[in-house]
Amino acid sequence: MTAPVIVWHRRDLRLHDHQALQVALDRSAVVIPTFILDPGILAREDTAAARVQFMLDSLKELAERYRQLGGQLVVCQGDPLVQLQDLIERTGARTVIWNQDVEPYALRRDQQVSEGLQQRGIEVIRCQDMLLHGPGQILTQAGEYYSVYTPFWRNWIGQPKAQPLPQPGRIQTPEVESFPLPSLQDLGFAWDQMLPEAGETAALDLLELFVDREIFDYEENRNLPSVRGTSQLSPHLRWGTIGIRQVWQATVEARDRSRSEEAQLSVKAWQQEIAWREFYKHVLYAFPRVETGPYRSKYGDLEWDNDLDLFQAWCEGQTGYPMVDAAMRQLNQTGWMHNRCRMIVASFLTKDLLIDWRWGERYFMQKLVDGDLAANNGGWQWSASVGTDPKPMRIFNPATQGAKFDPEGDYIREYVPEISGLDTPALLQVSDSKAGQWAQQERQGCGYPDPIVDHKQRQQEFKRRYQACQ
Ligand code: FAD
Repeated sequence: MTAPVIVWHRRDLRLHDHQALQVALDRSAVVIPTFILDPGILAREDTAAARVQFMLDSLKELAERYRQLGGQLVVCQGDPLVQLQDLIERTGARTVIWNQDVEPYALRRDQQVSEGLQQRGIEVIRCQDMLLHGPGQILTQAGEYYSVYTPFWRNWIGQPKAQPLPQPGRIQTPEVESFPLPSLQDLGFAWDQMLPEAGETAALDLLELFVDREIFDYEENRNLPSVRGTSQLSPHLRWGTIGIRQVWQATVEARDRSRSEEAQLSVKAWQQEIAWREFYKHVLYAFPRVETGPYRSKYGDLEWDNDLDLFQAWCEGQTGYPMVDAAMRQLNQTGWMHNRCRMIVASFLTKDLLIDWRWGERYFMQKLVDGDLAANNGGWQWSASVGTDPKPMRIFNPATQGAKFDPEGDYIREYVPEISGLDTPALLQVSDSKAGQWAQQERQGCGYPDPIVDHKQRQQEFKRRYQACQ
């Protein structure tokens, strides 16, 4: 009988389209699927309750899915190397397989675990599963990593993409004692709001719904936060409750079903978002220094005010700019925020409040159910104009953004209920014009704060400081 093989699940909480599991099943009839609750991650100050809850819910479903196939998910808690060694001793496993990550912490940990296991004669296999094209597969002609998205995309889209992997059949796991799945409270977190449904069944349903209909109107609706125009797959892609090859194949089939040029362009626009996800993962892998500082190092000298009161007002959605406040309250209440709004509030924090983008990046990580170092860091560096993509330095006017992307004020009404009874112009106007002053008075009458900074004046100040770094 072949020795059992351990599959170490981390950000891949599914059975379908799973590279490491497929490799394990090809090698042995006996597989020990394992998840290790890592205190090093749980204790981090930027670990979000919403994200941990989504993980626990996904693990619960994963355990159930393994049970249905005759196997068992083994849950451990503690240092990964110690836990894996213990499991090896208990089961006689000779091989450990996992899907690779790109984050600096994970890479360091995996290297340590790998060396520790190999020293004891255990075989380690690391698979590329998280991305359609892993690090090193998309390089410039000079063999370097891209630092600009558009040429990355052109290269990336031209490469053949792997097909989804088949669903596993029956799974045999030896009797192994497992740590019971803890509750969120057991882990020291609290979250009492609704979250998107976790687990691979929900992820596959969501994908199916999206590629059936919404993907064809993505280009038109993607920027409207009051409309469900995006896939909402981000927590699933974050936790790997959906396989990226499966997602890709669904987009290819949707493109083939497109009935108009617009629909086809919409599918392409969504595929480009999948490529953004991959781009930022490559950037983090190739330039791990972005974890702590700007990709363009000259902007390390950018002068920030870091005013604590302004930061607090931003976090709480009390800035007096309705679009910004609606977005921040959406984040605080639901653990998720629409992409357009992420760009608006990030621009506002850095370019209106003159607060270091890393403060915003950390706050997002403390809240987001889809919080992902690569995408979040990339999004913040882009918004602060200090990152990889050398687009013209943009400053979003939060009032204009509101008028353009929430023209009826529906999104603002949903998340800023104290002003929801006002007419739409009173929700959207923020300026020192007559109309702006009238709108401000209307909002004041509802107990809503006045704008905490003057956009015009602050954007000039930001530009001055930015120029000073050239
Ligand atoms: P869709 O529009 O349906 O896109 C599909 C998928 O593509 C997303 O689920 C996501 O995996 C990927 N994607 C889309 N846009 C981007 C992007 N700009 N960068 C990287 N991947 C992208 N995304 C995260 O997954 N985690 C984060 O922590 C995160 N932080 C962000 C912070 C800022 C300041 C900004 C501007 C963007 C951030 N994003 C982050 C990207 C984007 O906002 C979310 O991926 C998107 O809103 C998720 O909603 P969706 O799944 O409906 O997206």
